[in-house]
Amino acid sequence: MAGISDNSAGARPEFGRGLLGTLPRALFERPVVVTQPEPWALVHGEFDADSTRVQMASTAEVASLQSLAGSCGPGSAVFGIGGGMACDIAKFIAWMNDLPLVLVPTILSADAAFCKAVAIRESGLVRYVGAAVPDRLLIDFELINAAPKAFNRSGVGDILSIFTALWDWREANARLGERFDAAAAGEAQALLDLLFAGVRDLRDVTDDGIRLLVDLYLCEVRLCEAFGNSRPEEGSEHHLAYCLESLTRRPYLHGRLVALCALLVGRHQGQDVGPVREFLRDLELGLAFTDVGATREELRRALLHMKDFLAVERQLPPGVFHFGETLSEETADDLLNDSQDLPGV
Ligand SMILES: [Zn+2]
Repeated sequence: MAGISDNSAGARPEFGRGLLGTLPRALFERPVVVTQPEPWALVHGEFDADSTRVQMASTAEVASLQSLAGSCGPGSAVFGIGGGMACDIAKFIAWMNDLPLVLVPTILSADAAFCKAVAIRESGLVRYVGAAVPDRLLIDFELINAAPKAFNRSGVGDILSIFTALWDWREANARLGERFDAAAAGEAQALLDLLFAGVRDLRDVTDDGIRLLVDLYLCEVRLCEAFGNSRPEEGSEHHLAYCLESLTRRPYLHGRLVALCALLVGRHQGQDVGPVREFLRDLELGLAFTDVGATREELRRALLHMKDFLAVERQLPPGVFHFGETLSEETADDLLNDSQDLPGV
């Protein structure tokens, strides 16, 4: 697996242990640190308590982010140390204030640390604004391994989404004449195949597993940037996740929710989800509704609400929920039952 991201035009990840201690001290003069309690407990000793502004990541709603970014003033650097939301908020503050950006993802549950676009929420809906490439991207094995394994296993979601995204894209080409790029689709499929092949290292969150996931993220982001948008990687599985988020107004562990949605949506698309089921079973990523953090009833509501959601959220590219009728209650129940039938999990 070594080297699949060698040609990446974006940030170059630095792998190792104790990496914060290797950064130039100038970055620590007046830093803004966006983090979460667990990772902060592990790294706070690297920062001077008097000169560091610490901001716990709690919401990515645009109004609070704008006032936060406006109040940060001059600083030496913005650090995002934590999961996807901490990285996204740090990207937003660095972009608004034009400050150096250091990203230290401590769980690999989403691709936020690896893509330029800054994801925010506006009234519960995802919006992409601005662009921020980290000056330093630190992949610290020790910090990542301090988190529960399930958090890092969840990181497969934003690659697994290729499975359902490609179906949407082919179908949009066949039904609507949307441009389909066979080479880009082939590259995306190759990333999915690498993901499936690496299941043991991903399950055990080994150094190789962490490198694999980071390489896959970087390749995926490069592929989407070269193509011009995230069509090769994001589809109806994300649409369903966004719909659930907008209904429940709660944050989720992104990758785990997307993984469950890929399973639900893949079956709704009529695909053979056998390989996805096998992969998720071997990964030992819990996908019970309680693991994902939504109730069965909430997910059922989201499935039945998709048409209404897409009527409002009009900027999403066409996928399986655009093509068909509103799901029947029987279909929704059938999909939900099937998604919970993963032996050994
Ligand atoms: Zn995603």
